[in-house]
Amino acid sequence: MKAFMDRDFLLSTETAKHLYHDFAAPQPIIDYHCHLSPQEIFEDRKFENITQVWLGGDHYKWRLMRSAGVDERYITGDATDREKFQKWAETLGLAAGNPLYHWSHLELRNYFGYTGALNGDTAEEVWQLCNEKLKELSARRLIVNSNVKALCTTDDPADSLEWHKKIAEDGSFGVKVLPSYRPDKALGIEKEDYVNYLARLGTIRSFAELAGALKERLAFFVSLGCRVSDHGMESVPYAEATEAEVEAIFRKRLAGEIPSALEQKQFKTALLLELGREYHRLGVVMQLHFGVIRDNSHRVFRALGPDAGIDSIGDQPSIKELAAFLGALDDTDELPKTILYSLNPNDNAALVTVMGAFQTGEAVGKVQHGSAWWFNDHKAGMVEQLTTLAADGYLAGFVGMLTDSRSFLSYARHEYFRRILCELLGSWVENGEYPNDDKALRTIVEGISYKNAERYFGLAE
Ligand SMILES: [Zn+2]
Repeated sequence: MKAFMDRDFLLSTETAKHLYHDFAAPQPIIDYHCHLSPQEIFEDRKFENITQVWLGGDHYKWRLMRSAGVDERYITGDATDREKFQKWAETLGLAAGNPLYHWSHLELRNYFGYTGALNGDTAEEVWQLCNEKLKELSARRLIVNSNVKALCTTDDPADSLEWHKKIAEDGSFGVKVLPSYRPDKALGIEKEDYVNYLARLGTIRSFAELAGALKERLAFFVSLGCRVSDHGMESVPYAEATEAEVEAIFRKRLAGEIPSALEQKQFKTALLLELGREYHRLGVVMQLHFGVIRDNSHRVFRALGPDAGIDSIGDQPSIKELAAFLGALDDTDELPKTILYSLNPNDNAALVTVMGAFQTGEAVGKVQHGSAWWFNDHKAGMVEQLTTLAADGYLAGFVGMLTDSRSFLSYARHEYFRRILCELLGSWVENGEYPNDDKALRTIVEGISYKNAERYFGLAE
């Protein structure tokens, strides 16, 4: 029997151990998509206790606790932090096979030096240990200790980016903290507060003015080092319309009328195409996140708002529309570097083949299949994403892992990913399916762990 989560956790062969310890582990981290607060980084936030770090905003943990029958009072309610930690420890202790089990224990090992197993019985000793260690830890120290070279936060175009500016001006922090451009609200024409949102972008009287304002904001983001944009949606839309039709749809919305479903799609297509061309012109990577159904429990949504652990995988992504959208940009050779993420793993093979149709010499893996995302961010999901990408695409060009997290402890997810990658590659070598060629293996492992992302996002010094 192997020891519990020891040095060779998830590594079952000599080749896998060699690839991980000698090639993957020493590589720094580029976290090109996360939801950390730049304000907390600038102010170098400290945390009073482990509940604040772990349970403060982590809806992955909230839904696991609900699944274990824990009362909401101990999740997002008014129980004390110690009481909440107890319920979390009891929940986690039995969560065999859940990635939160592995992530949490990697975090306990890497940041707090705790090598035991957290459960209801050990909760008190872990609580004491973590809170003692947290006195020496802070947002910046956690990032630096994790060997992070650059991280990309997620920001609205209307954001002043004040905290990014302050971090850059301050100059004392050696890690690049770059904004990402996420204009979901500008695309959300069906939303009730849409017109109020537009006011945040300036005086907008037409679709042309909206596109102009968004491009101006994008240029501002780029001036502060932005390398990547992000779009979240149920599915990637594609419906053609003339310029005049799009202007008419937009004016209708300004007048207070909600456009029809087709009109919404036409508007979104037109705006996404405008943005896509601009991303291409400025060398900004376009990320498309789709396949999600958000806020399924209206009851919880009313109490807690979005990102409360009530989302799910959807079945709506239209591969045909996605391909048409990418094709429209590719038509004039204005398709930016693009990363596709579907929350529905059934889409993986289709996505990888759509990507293959649009690859060019512009970049290694110009169109990427994003790493296993959210509900797929576990061992089986990662193996499935890596295997599909290898079979129908070019695994060696993959830009690899990101945390997509709100927590400063989540860098352990990069370690988790690298171990799974090395175990998979190692198994192919051990099985005689790929040669034991150290030079090539090193290129692949270092590339996927770090170097591909550095090149792809243009982050080399
Ligand atoms: Zn995200």
